[in-house]
Amino acid sequence: MNAWTIFPVSVGTMKQVEKSNYTYGSNQGIKLDVCSLIYVLKGGPEPIIVDTGMSEPGWATQYHHLSSRDRSQEPSAALQKLGISCDEIRTVIFTHLHWDHCFNNAIFPKARFLVQKDEIQYALFPLPIHALYYEAPSVGKTPPWLKDIGRFEVIDGDREILPGVSIVKLPGHTPGFQGINVSTRKGNYLIGSDFCPLFENWPSMDKEPIPSAIHVNLLDYFQSFKKAATFAEFVLPGHDLKVLEQESYPAGP
Ligand SMILES: [Zn+2]
Repeated sequence: MNAWTIFPVSVGTMKQVEKSNYTYGSNQGIKLDVCSLIYVLKGGPEPIIVDTGMSEPGWATQYHHLSSRDRSQEPSAALQKLGISCDEIRTVIFTHLHWDHCFNNAIFPKARFLVQKDEIQYALFPLPIHALYYEAPSVGKTPPWLKDIGRFEVIDGDREILPGVSIVKLPGHTPGFQGINVSTRKGNYLIGSDFCPLFENWPSMDKEPIPSAIHVNLLDYFQSFKKAATFAEFVLPGHDLKVLEQESYPAGP
């Protein structure tokens, strides 16, 4: 029995983001403050990091959203508070390569970075409407992950990483999006990241799933919702401040 525990770590706040970006165009005009997250998985033979979060706030504000990062949200310091020593981390999983999920890679000098093959290809040559999300060469930028590509481990499909932690390909938001299925003592959690940027994207008894307005393929997206429903008992979102109301998932020691 592998009982992992998941810790959401905020590494920045994006201010007054248009909610309809996250909810397929509904909720227009509603503005939300949202968090940029690193997820930490503990309880196995080694800790695992999921995503490395957004850039420093000056860069983020200039090119993306008005953003802030207080001292407690500095990535290394925030992880240290959980007892994580960044230079000992050996495994980082990228859910996808949008700028706000892969910016702080230098703090993990010994890590390998697990990414889907389709994601790398699209991140380098995206459609124009997605290019800034990737900080792609076509908009005159250098993708924030590119200098670490020598440490990338390319995945093509689903894969168990350690007992109780599996990568599950869930395309739709991006072509090579992957969620992480984590076995805990309370059941299976899916780290949904931008597949479910808010808790409300995930379906409930009387509510259909809601895709993000930012996507490459809606048919894939809905297939991914079906696939995720076969194993996920709980879903952790990519940007919802409510996830920080609990220190760990499941809660408690
Ligand atoms: Zn994204």
